[in-house]
Amino acid sequence: MNKEKSNEILGILKTIIENPKCELNYNNIFELLIAVILSAQTTDKRVNEVTTILFDRYKTIKDLKEASEIDVEEIIRPLGLSRSKSKNIISVANSIYYDFNSNVPSTIEELTTLKGVGRKTASVVLVEGFKIPAFPVDTHLIRMANRLGYSKSSDPILVEKAYKKYIDKSEWGISHHLFLLFGRYYCKAIAPKCDNCKLKNYCKKKS
Ligand code: SF4
Repeated sequence: MNKEKSNEILGILKTIIENPKCELNYNNIFELLIAVILSAQTTDKRVNEVTTILFDRYKTIKDLKEASEIDVEEIIRPLGLSRSKSKNIISVANSIYYDFNSNVPSTIEELTTLKGVGRKTASVVLVEGFKIPAFPVDTHLIRMANRLGYSKSSDPILVEKAYKKYIDKSEWGISHHLFLLFGRYYCKAIAPKCDNCKLKNYCKKKS
């Protein structure tokens, strides 16, 4: 990989993904954080269906911190892992309320002190919510990095470093969405849409 090739890939991706943006619905950074925590191992569409109900019932950080785990678990059950997700989001609401004066923290170090918040979730909150450069890496981003030649590694930290090396900081946010959505809808883990793929010439995947 080099910067020139990376720019070509991004240019092509921009012609494939017309509207590269976050597919989770949220009204503020706290709701974004909660939605990202809930999105583990499920789809953004399901999360949006559930958060419509959840955020209507618990409108503020204070409301959610005072919620009963069982009530929240019942609402978020369609997402799977509902017991741990319920515990985590109530714990996050408590931490933000008491430790951060009801303000979602804006550093990766602080965000990752919250229960259920790892580097990827923290990075999404930074780049999407605060517009602070960050490069969230999930399973789609790892697969894209491997197939398009950014990195051979499956370690998210190394993959993040590789993307950051070849992509300008100002492009991290949009690039993350481009790779994510291309991986989600075209270059899927199983049965990628390789016929007529505009990135075929850059692809390392042996078919
Ligand atoms: S050719 Fe197939 S595997 Fe390679 S980037 Fe395109 S869709 Fe993905």
